[in-house]
Amino acid sequence: MTVTATYPPRPAGHAAGDSASLSREELERYSRHLLLPEVGLAGQQKLKNGRVLIVGAGGLGSPLALYLAAAGVGHLGIVDFDAVDVSNLQRQVLHGTKDIGRPKLDSARDRVGDVNPHVHVETHATALTSANALEIIRDYDIVVDGTDNFPTRYLVNDACVLTGKPNVYGSIFRFEGQASVFAMENGPCYRCLFREPPPPGMVPSCAEGGVLGVLPGLVGTIQATEVLKLLLGAGTPLIGRLLLVDALRMQFRTLALRKDPECPACGTHELKELIDYEEFCGLRQTASSAVPEITPREFADRRARGDDLVLIDVREPHEWDIAHIPGARLIPLGTLGDALPTLDPAREMVVHCKGGSRSARAVKQLQDAGFTRVWNLAGGIGRWSDDVDPRVPKY
Ligand SMILES: [Zn+2]
Repeated sequence: MTVTATYPPRPAGHAAGDSASLSREELERYSRHLLLPEVGLAGQQKLKNGRVLIVGAGGLGSPLALYLAAAGVGHLGIVDFDAVDVSNLQRQVLHGTKDIGRPKLDSARDRVGDVNPHVHVETHATALTSANALEIIRDYDIVVDGTDNFPTRYLVNDACVLTGKPNVYGSIFRFEGQASVFAMENGPCYRCLFREPPPPGMVPSCAEGGVLGVLPGLVGTIQATEVLKLLLGAGTPLIGRLLLVDALRMQFRTLALRKDPECPACGTHELKELIDYEEFCGLRQTASSAVPEITPREFADRRARGDDLVLIDVREPHEWDIAHIPGARLIPLGTLGDALPTLDPAREMVVHCKGGSRSARAVKQLQDAGFTRVWNLAGGIGRWSDDVDPRVPKY
């Protein structure tokens, strides 16, 4: 099996000839494609024969699923295990208000079916893991990375390199995004660009740092464009190029990327199987790296008993304005070092943030500074709202 720059290999059993020609309805539906010489009837058949796996039915997965379905990509696989939450709707346009609480795969299937009933949707209700990735990916021509975390991003990359499938990559944060096409034979992979993941907690997630709602629309649509080009064999794909999107300045820049001959995945090929990506990304807590925790319930009970616990909130002031826990003192994480002299090491301290990861770093910092009676509030103010005081809004 060979991989060319512009067209993915076709698995056995999905030869170009085995799909029926386009029906009268399809000819009408795709007329604006058929008018393009770069697509035409032959190209539309290629799209219909295309098998594309979308990893994640979230912000990036939404425009991907909608546009690839509308364009007539015949077989769409979607991997997701989440349910629709009201906080998703600001950007995940695949889902609606009526879908809150439903599995994302269910609303995705309904919506895609409405956009284009000719598309076969295959849902994979699971997290993509080292145990199932190769098995799932095997049946597809192209994999699109719509994930929001580093372990899955490396997993998708390595699985694509090992199986020879193009990895159409996209990522978003706040007002910025990136896109590229990785793991083609003649181009670099994600590991060529980022050999090692960032230290855990260094790069906040969108759930911690926020994201402009249209940004996944921009980046996911760019990924969808690359998928269509790869299926059609048209144009110049983003192979060996990293597209940087800056929505605040509305600037698009492209960096040239080179394949790294020392890359363990696509260079030396020393990576022969999938690994433990949580561990690779430093997310598997060891006894020494874990910080002591207290649940919101335990903390509330102790406070109710009159225990003298100091509560420190290490979020940002604009988050404090949205919601805060009564009695907390605001010390944004970046200013904690300066505030140390104002804290009394003799008193017990509980530190919280939105979800518990920034406060875990704060606890570590306090421990390093000699504080021994410090706890991380597990699940942050979000879990406080769930378990103790629902009047505190979630965001
Ligand atoms: Zn590589």
